[in-house]
This record gives sequence, structure tokens and C-alpha cells, in this order.
Amino acid sequence: MKKTKTDYDDPAVDRDLYSGLMRLHILHHAVEGPIFGLGMAEELARHGYRISPGTLYPLLHGLEKKGYISASEHRDGKSLRKVYRATPLGRKALKAAKAKVREFIGELMEGR
Ligand SMILES: [Zn+2]
Repeated sequence: MKKTKTDYDDPAVDRDLYSGLMRLHILHHAVEGPIFGLGMAEELARHGYRISPGTLYPLLHGLEKKGYISASEHRDGKSLRKVYRATPLGRKALKAAKAKVREFIGELMEGR
């Protein structure tokens, strides 16, 4: 089989297929508390999404551009770290997404 140019040939880590899920996951954690890039990459890896910064940062910036999360600089010792928090719009979007995800999971798991 011909190899693709992506680092991930395994369909289980197909980032296009899972990008919406990862966005919702990021938004969920940003609603719960401040998140930062590396911590979020580790959290996604824990859930089986091994993604590179080259994939994660566009997801974060996309959510920021839509106004769902906002970034601020946070001093961590000597270094500045960018932290993201959900905005009121982001909280609203997640709430709406929850209803859709619940319905979809019902269909997916029951095979209706
Ligand atoms: Zn999580």
C-alpha cells in the first residue's frame, strides 16, 4: 500500500476524521479550566489521540478565531506560557454540542 505523507497512517489516529472530536474535547477542557498547548496534547494522547503541535495549534487557533476560547500570557517561572480559557460563546457552543453528541452516540452505539 502506498504511504501517505502524513506522520499518521493508522486510521485509528486519522486526524481529519477525529478533528471535530478533538475540537470538542479541547473546548470541554477549556470550559473546565485554563489549558495550555503541551498539557492539552498530553490530555489528548491519554485519550488515544497522538497529535503533533503542528496539528494541535491550528485547532487551538481555529477555536480562538471563532471566539470560543481566548488566549492570555501566563508567566511560569522564567518563561511565558499561553493559556486558553473558554469564552461565554464557547460555553454556549459546547452546551449545544453536548446535545448533538448525546444523540449521535445513542445512534452510534445502538446501531439504529
Ligand atoms: Zn479529556
